[in-house]
Amino acid sequence: MIRKPRTHFIDRSEFYEVTGRLQHYACFHCRKAFKQSLRAQGSEAPCPQCRQPMTNMGTDFKAPPHRNQEQWLKVERLARAGIRFFPTWQDGTPGDRPAILAEVPAFLRRIFPPSAGQMYLERDRGTPSPAPQEGRLEQQGRFPGQIYRLLGRPLETGAAVELFERGHWQPITFIGRGSGNAPIPQPFAYPRVDDRTYFNRRPLFLTGKHRLRWPE
Ligand SMILES: [Zn+2]
Repeated sequence: MIRKPRTHFIDRSEFYEVTGRLQHYACFHCRKAFKQSLRAQGSEAPCPQCRQPMTNMGTDFKAPPHRNQEQWLKVERLARAGIRFFPTWQDGTPGDRPAILAEVPAFLRRIFPPSAGQMYLERDRGTPSPAPQEGRLEQQGRFPGQIYRLLGRPLETGAAVELFERGHWQPITFIGRGSGNAPIPQPFAYPRVDDRTYFNRRPLFLTGKHRLRWPE
């Protein structure tokens, strides 16, 4: 199905709260999905049948048939890894997803490659290789005419960089401009899965204190 491309960057569940599109909450116990409006963060959506907490799979989630246990297992594995089904801003689709359960491990390895830090630690100790240089977000000019740089290079909206968070370098997508390229007062980041996919997580607002680097 061909859809109209999205022109805004906010493609998260919060956006659909505004538009009124319903979220698809899945109960892996009952192998059923229920459309509901978005719950406040931290509040659980109990399954209407079994009252166990459901998982918000996104507005574009298509529930497998109840009898298809393998497809439900696939969806549950994806959900545990943080994969959701939201249209992304580039082409309006949720992005590639594995078709069958057996494809899930390779899919997850592809979208969660080992971080540069892990590779560095796992590297042969005899091989000298300095870790990539890190820097801080630099802002030049003031809102609404500001531009951002990292280690001297312009940092554009949609750029793939890495953020040091909870002890690891995490791939993020930098967002310095909003819908229709409109200026926004504070830049933020989405955890980056691949070029087309974001986690169903709230954006992280970036300040000059965050440790950032360009990917190798
Ligand atoms: Zn249930």
